[in-house]
Amino acid sequence: MTDKPRSHGMFRPEISSQPRPLMQPKGKAGAFRVQVLTLFPGLFPGVLGESLTGKALKEGLWEIEAFDIRRFATDRHRTVDDSPAGGGAGMVMRADILAKALDFAAKKGVEDRSRWPVVYLSPRGPRFDQRMAERFAEGDGLTLLCGRYEGVDQRVLDARGVEEISLGDFVLTGGEVAAQAVLDTVIRLRPGVLGNAASTEEESFSRGLLEHPQYTKPQVWEGRAIPEILLSGHHAKIAEWRLSQAERLTKERRPDLWRAYLDEKATEGDREQSGGQTEADTGSEKD
Ligand code: SAM
Repeated sequence: MTDKPRSHGMFRPEISSQPRPLMQPKGKAGAFRVQVLTLFPGLFPGVLGESLTGKALKEGLWEIEAFDIRRFATDRHRTVDDSPAGGGAGMVMRADILAKALDFAAKKGVEDRSRWPVVYLSPRGPRFDQRMAERFAEGDGLTLLCGRYEGVDQRVLDARGVEEISLGDFVLTGGEVAAQAVLDTVIRLRPGVLGNAASTEEESFSRGLLEHPQYTKPQVWEGRAIPEILLSGHHAKIAEWRLSQAERLTKERRPDLWRAYLDEKATEGDREQSGGQTEADTGSEKD
């Protein structure tokens, strides 16, 4: 027996391909607006309907519409794919059907593409990271195209200026899992979604470093004690310890991040130095 989908406020898992002029915006003013183009609209909001992202969805801090790509097919069988030009295994999603779906979504949402990127989840794209998530979270919304089969006809990506992003160097069966990972990362950065905003500032990647190790009670567990400094109440020393641990872990585990972090620190140092020189050069005096 399958459970009936749970209600998440005003979320509608599927929409008709026919415009509904009476449909009103569902979230609060300023809500982050998400559109997902997929063959499986029932998969959304999925994990995003739980915990903090689920609460934020109910509170109208963000909203989601899942568009069923199949509804834009024109034949009796609602075909969305065809065999690859030039031969080879699998099927490719058709440009004409996807263009209709993208254009329909655009009419309903995207006003300013610089504040509302249209993204195809794809193993060929640049790898998704915290910086991209921050860029998306600063916008008004996000449209995500989820591929299936061998992917989508290149022409629709070129014609509609669709950005490609990858979750990593591996191949998923479809873009839906990747879309949910991207959305989870972006939505938690939106104002009001996390209780404690400071918690995103110290997390892994926010400063270009992995996060320091975390501990909680009991104070001693299986003979392992929490590092003493964390129980000292000395905030400056704790911050210093955490930074040194974050640096150690990053250096050990992610040499790529570590190099970028050192480069960034060196650039900052140069900037500070040249700032000092400028003052000296201009002979400005401070009393
Ligand atoms: N033939 C494609 C290739 O080799 O690049 C893989 C297609 S994959 C089986 C089907 C869909 O899953 C893709 O169109 C994409 O939307 C999604 N997908 C697979 N791996 C992904 C990844 N690493 N990041 C984001 N999306 C991915």
